[in-house]
Amino acid sequence: MAPRKTRVTIETERIWVLEKPSGKKVWCPTCRRRVSALTPEEVAALLSVAAHPSCPIKTEKLHFVGTSNGEMVVCADSLVSQNAIQ
Ligand SMILES: [Zn+2]
Repeated sequence: MAPRKTRVTIETERIWVLEKPSGKKVWCPTCRRRVSALTPEEVAALLSVAAHPSCPIKTEKLHFVGTSNGEMVVCADSLVSQNAIQ
């Protein structure tokens, strides 16, 4: 098995860990449906991961959604779908 494939699996597992704590749902205008939301803390952790050259996540492809209480969250589906493509 190629080492690259293993790395993608690790990143996917990390994303699922990030997604679990909040369990929050938001309306994503890009997906046009309710999706799981990542909190600012989770996004910060994610962006530090995404800054790594070997990381398959493209931050410019993430869906950023503003909530009613002025919070900025990230659509988890935009994240998961990126890994599915890899
Ligand atoms: Zn979305």
